[in-house]
Amino acid sequence: MNDFIYKKSLGQNFLTDLNILKRIVQAVPINGKSLVIEIGPGSGNLTKQIAKVANQVLCYEIDNRLELILDDTLKDFSNIKIIFDDFLKRNIKEDLKNFSYDNLYLIANLPYYITTPIIEKIINSKLDFKYITVMVQKEVGDRIAAKPKSREYNSLTVYLNYYFNLKREFIVSRNSFTPKPNVDSIVISLIKKDNRLPLKDEIFFEKLLRDSFKFKRKTIKNNLKNYNLDLIEKILLKYNFSLTSRAEELPLEVFVELANSLK
Ligand code: SAM
Repeated sequence: MNDFIYKKSLGQNFLTDLNILKRIVQAVPINGKSLVIEIGPGSGNLTKQIAKVANQVLCYEIDNRLELILDDTLKDFSNIKIIFDDFLKRNIKEDLKNFSYDNLYLIANLPYYITTPIIEKIINSKLDFKYITVMVQKEVGDRIAAKPKSREYNSLTVYLNYYFNLKREFIVSRNSFTPKPNVDSIVISLIKKDNRLPLKDEIFFEKLLRDSFKFKRKTIKNNLKNYNLDLIEKILLKYNFSLTSRAEELPLEVFVELANSLK
């Protein structure tokens, strides 16, 4: 690694603290015939810890320059496959056809410049992840795991909340990385909800969320003026909200009922 030139443009801040690497993997209750996907193995430090406890590991790494380093770091393991490609361009379902597993997990120290597209791709893949545990920039983690009425609560939070219980695991100081980034990080877990609220149309739900949060300071009445406001008002009143409420005040179940009624 001594000669390696880190690419900032690829979010290459490698985690060097063995304690933290172990804690990330310990946060995930990996069991059964398991397959763990890792995005961005880098030099393989996290991959190694994952491979010790999982049956199989599938990694996606965009940077071919890491191939020799990864070969060396992971030479003692036969349960790791690395695809050298842009994760965002892959058809994950197709890639998974080569694997047989019962329980699917995702563990990654994500490249920060594409955190949200990666999370959206994972959710939209509709793959049955039991646990998604990722390290993200602290500020992004705060937004993802935000509670209603907080400044950080946003449409992605509500959308993720529909599928998962969101858990903050622990904060990681910028000093644990090489090279050192400008911000601290947080490890968060998205834990599959077994009992989801019934939803008629997930795409409509997503659109309604985006529209509801379109202009942060505006009321529901303003942001959803193109929808049936009489019906919206009726539902909001049932939950003690009104048309002058803001999207950031509304919990998941209100959005689900709105989406089901308006569709
Ligand atoms: N897993 C290592 C660790 O924890 O130290 C490295 C994490 S580093 C924050 C992010 C990694 O993602 C880098 O190795 C980078 O090359 C890789 N990466 C960046 N963009 C990617 C993409 N679109 N697809 C796959 N890997 C990507």
